[in-house]
Amino acid sequence: MHPALRRELFGALLWAALGALGGYWLGGAWIGLAAALALRLGLYIRYLAGLRAWLDQPKRRDLPLAGGVWGEVFDGLLNLQKRNRKRKKKLAAILAEFQASTEALPDGAVVLGPSGEIVWFNAAAQALLGLRLPQDLGLRVANLVRVPVFTEYFAREDYGGEVEGPSPLNPDSTLSYRIIPYGAGQRLLIVRDVSELKRLETARRDFVANASHELRTPLTVLRGYLDALEPETRQGAALAAWHAPLSEMRNQAARMEALIHDLLKLARLESDVIQTRQDLLDVPRMLERVLEEAKAMSKGQHRFEFEAQPDLKLFGRESEVQSIFGNLVANAVQYTPAGGIVRIRWWGDDQGAHFSVADTGIGIAEKDIPRITERFYRVDAARSRAGGGTGLGLSIVKHALERHEGRLQIESELGVGSTFTCHFPPHRVHRGEARSERYSTAH
Ligand code: ADP
Repeated sequence: MHPALRRELFGALLWAALGALGGYWLGGAWIGLAAALALRLGLYIRYLAGLRAWLDQPKRRDLPLAGGVWGEVFDGLLNLQKRNRKRKKKLAAILAEFQASTEALPDGAVVLGPSGEIVWFNAAAQALLGLRLPQDLGLRVANLVRVPVFTEYFAREDYGGEVEGPSPLNPDSTLSYRIIPYGAGQRLLIVRDVSELKRLETARRDFVANASHELRTPLTVLRGYLDALEPETRQGAALAAWHAPLSEMRNQAARMEALIHDLLKLARLESDVIQTRQDLLDVPRMLERVLEEAKAMSKGQHRFEFEAQPDLKLFGRESEVQSIFGNLVANAVQYTPAGGIVRIRWWGDDQGAHFSVADTGIGIAEKDIPRITERFYRVDAARSRAGGGTGLGLSIVKHALERHEGRLQIESELGVGSTFTCHFPPHRVHRGEARSERYSTAH
């Protein structure tokens, strides 16, 4: 038993004994005992009433002054109350700090409840999305932010990555929307204004495209003169010494032309709005042509294996799909030493259609694989240049594939070989004879 309780019990017993003794002295021990216990009970009830009143209004009332166990209980309660007040103050300070920092954030932040209702948002969210305080609290965000890209993203179960779409207030500015799930069904919506970034990106793209375009004409003129001079160096003895330099100049001019061609192609892939209607492509026939070109490039140094499902067709843009196949097969030939094997496959299953090129070439180190689709990234720049590579081939493949809702998978081992596989989704695939010559991405 707690010592304070023991003391209280002892006090009560002493009190009862004194009552009984007093009563005995006055002529009735039982009456004395009952009177003493009634007094004690009255005291307890008074303390309880004081406690009850204090619980109702702890700020306005004081706890009764008491000794013994009651005093200890009241002191404990007062301490508890003091500690709670301190904690509350600390929490309020943290909350105020958090609110001040989120208000200062340039990004919009909106806290959403389990059914997508708005629980809280900061000042940037008001400015970017046009949310109003307090009217919009409790309303569903999907009803307020009526931007199709966002609505679609919001309805999705997995919120990997972010989406870009127009602002609900101004269709000329672009916002990036990102949803982060947390807690029990809570979601945090982060909105950023990326208009400036978009403008810069467009300016960079336009600059590269314009510069490449402008370079094309002077280069064609130079190439023309070099081509015209070439026979002269072979015939006229006076120009014979120029034969080797001229042929090198022609090689370099051809390299520049290839670079400009690839840069323009990449710029077009990045800037063209994807067409909703596309052609049904006879992939097996296209691949036969790619195979012929690869054989010409290999000059009999490689063995080719070819396997294509004859009736498997793809909805897409011929020039872009041709770039995908052509670049991957050309790379396989270029990075496979003489005597190696290049295996081209085109097949379909319930996941869609797949195109793969496997080679027994030099392979790619694991650390380089994530980077080789970057512009101008080459594992061995000298080797790539020597083979006429521009360093842009895989970037073109990646962009062209994205425009066909495809995905590139790269598996490779140094010194063993590489396999590049393109996966196309089922709704882009058509089996059998042409049903219609057109495809709409709305499928
Ligand atoms: P490049 O014009 O240099 O071939 P790409 O963008 O087509 O440019 O390829 C980028 C780099 O990826 C190449 O420089 C090469 O190092 C590596 N690479 C691409 N395909 C293969 C392959 N089949 N085997 C080994 N390395 C490859």
